[in-house]
Amino acid sequence: MQRDQQPVVRDIVLVGGGHSHVGVLRHFAMRPMPGVRITLVCTDAHTPYSGMLPGYVAGHYGYDDVHIDLSRLAQFAGARFIRAEVIGMERAERRLVLLDRPALSYDLASINIGSTPQVDAVPGADAHAIPVKPIYRFNQRWLALLARMQAHAGPATIAVVGGGAGGVELTLAMQHRLRATLREHGRDPDALVFLLFTADAVVLPTHNAAVQRRFTDVLRQRGVQVHVDAPVQEVAAGRLRIQQGAWFDADEVVWVTQAGGAAWLRDTGLALDERGFIRVNDALQSVNDPRVFAAGDVASMDTRSLEKAGVFAVRMAAPLARNLGRALAQQPLQPYRPQRSWLALISTGDRYAVASRGRLSFAGAWVWRWKDWIDRRFMRRFSEFPLVAALPDAASVAQGAVLTQEEALQAASAVAMRCGGCGAKVGASVLSRALANLAPIHSDAVLIGLHAPDDAAIVRVPPGKAMVHTVDFFRAFIEDPYVFGQIAANHALGDIFAMGAEPQSATAIATLPPGLEDKVEDLLRQMMAGAVEVLNAAGCVLVGGHTGEGSELALGFAVNGLVEASLQGVLRKGGLRAGDVLLLTKPIGTGTLFAAHARLAARGRWVQGALDGMRQSNQVGARVLIAHGATACTDLTGFGLLGHLVEMTRPSGVDARLSLSALPLLDGAQECVAQGIVSSLQTSNLRLRRVLHNQQAYAAHPRYPLLFDPQTAGGLLASVPAAQAGACLDALRAAGYADAAAIGDVVARVGEQAPISLLD
Ligand SMILES: Cc1cc2nc3c(=O)[nH]c(=O)nc-3n(C[C@H](O)[C@H](O)[C@H](O)COP(=O)(O)OP(=O)(O)OC[C@H]3O[C@@H](n4cnc5c(N)ncnc54)[C@H](O)[C@@H]3O)c2cc1C
Repeated sequence: MQRDQQPVVRDIVLVGGGHSHVGVLRHFAMRPMPGVRITLVCTDAHTPYSGMLPGYVAGHYGYDDVHIDLSRLAQFAGARFIRAEVIGMERAERRLVLLDRPALSYDLASINIGSTPQVDAVPGADAHAIPVKPIYRFNQRWLALLARMQAHAGPATIAVVGGGAGGVELTLAMQHRLRATLREHGRDPDALVFLLFTADAVVLPTHNAAVQRRFTDVLRQRGVQVHVDAPVQEVAAGRLRIQQGAWFDADEVVWVTQAGGAAWLRDTGLALDERGFIRVNDALQSVNDPRVFAAGDVASMDTRSLEKAGVFAVRMAAPLARNLGRALAQQPLQPYRPQRSWLALISTGDRYAVASRGRLSFAGAWVWRWKDWIDRRFMRRFSEFPLVAALPDAASVAQGAVLTQEEALQAASAVAMRCGGCGAKVGASVLSRALANLAPIHSDAVLIGLHAPDDAAIVRVPPGKAMVHTVDFFRAFIEDPYVFGQIAANHALGDIFAMGAEPQSATAIATLPPGLEDKVEDLLRQMMAGAVEVLNAAGCVLVGGHTGEGSELALGFAVNGLVEASLQGVLRKGGLRAGDVLLLTKPIGTGTLFAAHARLAARGRWVQGALDGMRQSNQVGARVLIAHGATACTDLTGFGLLGHLVEMTRPSGVDARLSLSALPLLDGAQECVAQGIVSSLQTSNLRLRRVLHNQQAYAAHPRYPLLFDPQTAGGLLASVPAAQAGACLDALRAAGYADAAAIGDVVARVGEQAPISLLD
């Protein structure tokens, strides 16, 4: 969050983490632009590098060898990473429409989303073929095909439709891998038949004759049946038909033909070519919207026709980054000049490759090693990061982008000495605009709330009920304000659920870094939209709040809940009984994972997994625990598992045993602590090790540090009678707490000894 120290004056939003945008991110990491916030919106945290994809399919590389970690790269670039799908644009308002979350404002948008398969034109292809594009979804489809083939008994036929470099390379890679897999399983690799269909008269039609000959020979030697001049016109379950009328049986049909632009682009009003790709000038700028740029497969240059290849997408990165900066500074844009001929290194599946450039062609195992060296060097650019350039100081912010007079005043004000007290409130107009579209749920219990704002809210407590109060507040630990808002609300609600209460109303307290009014407004809108969504889902009405300026983005809530006035059904920490089983509803490890994230040491999918967990509500979990006779409960937060467990054993007058191997862990948590990366709160939590009876015996255990790991929006730690534990766990898992686990038990207090014992 360091870059929040500068007021944001301009937003560049990168849509899609394709081959161009990874280069753009690296460019801005090395040359940050003062006051310019970069946001990457992408459907996935990891994006495949197309050059190594066939090698991955062939089994020569692992997942992380061929995928760029976008979340980590964005973190390195000081950019916001938003995992979401863009589904439209409101260009007049300069907003991107996102699936299942609020629209995102931009000053400049750049689109690098690859291509989408055009299977609609061929009946049955949509339902029965496996499209290779978009390539970022191919991994799941490939792993599924692999699993089906492993389970398939007897002969099997795989048909590949498309005879370009992609289709041929993929056919040979799949064949190599699947034959090896069958051999490993003691099955006959010759039971696998490959068919390749192409509408052209020859394979690799855009390459020279020598390359075509080489591949024709390789395909023949490998027993691949090639059908040229054979456009596929229909696909049905287990077979396909070519134009000439013949049907061919095929257990799997893999679709590697021409692709088009994403369907949502058609409704944006952007000028598109006949295949639905965005028409751009030679500066990679949309021909009918100067605020929109495009690169990679999705861009269609008016001045030149380019092959849809990753190599062009990669080369577009530098001119695209420069032009985004120049466009903000209102400087003339520079043309991108694609190379006339380019070197393609096309592999044959068996660590052998053919080089093709213009009329040139050569081949060998050394060509594959050369390609491997080039590809690995390329990937290192996005995984091994040099020291980041010094950040520009806040005063230079207004110089990078051209501002209106009013914006320049706001930017100057944002870096000037700011007032405290009520002078630090966020302006009324910003506040009312940002909150205008929030829609808290309605409750008759709210007599005065946001629907009729006053100095304070008034909420009725129903007869026979008592009120539960709690408050939580913390600063943002991720760059995505919407997800941060969701987690802050979920975290605050955790105490209510842990008490066995139902939430009723909440007031919010937020701080936002000063900046241009529309940027502050957008930040507040995104954050509160996330928070209100979570509060609404919990049945909790947002009734008011306070927003002030602060050096960092932060959000918290005072939440009120209701319980029976008799306190029946209330879950307290002090209810543990000897013989009870300890259950934990969610995995632990958020502290170490986000400490690692801040140091660029956590994989994007680990971070995304932890965020998903933090957004999971404890509401249903609490109900399940109560229904199974839970005797005590608390929610895991800053003091970590051990700290919260001791808070339960002490008032209960019992001891507890914890099984380290049974602890559910978030993906990557153990790897992070193994690297010695722990949260800054860990040191303080570690003081509690004195409560461990056999601490010495387990201090070197790889899971030991996680006992002290502070949790954000953690799960519920509860005790249930042993007889109910199995059914309770089943019910928790069925309710979506997939990692819920029995992690120990409660035993009678033994004299003065330390109360917690560890087990393997
Ligand atoms: C088997 C195969 C092998 C290939 N081998 C090579 C090769 O060796 N060399 C070569 O030059 N080319 C190769 N290609 C072609 C290459 O894959 C494409 O040209 C290249 O991937 C295009 O890159 P891109 O940057 O345009 O988009 P992509 O790499 O497809 O990236 C698009 C990104 O956008 C994201 N995204 C998509 N839609 C949205 C949305 N709506 N909202 C948010 N994010 C979104 C995706 O998650 C993804 O991260 C190969 C193709 C295939 C099929």
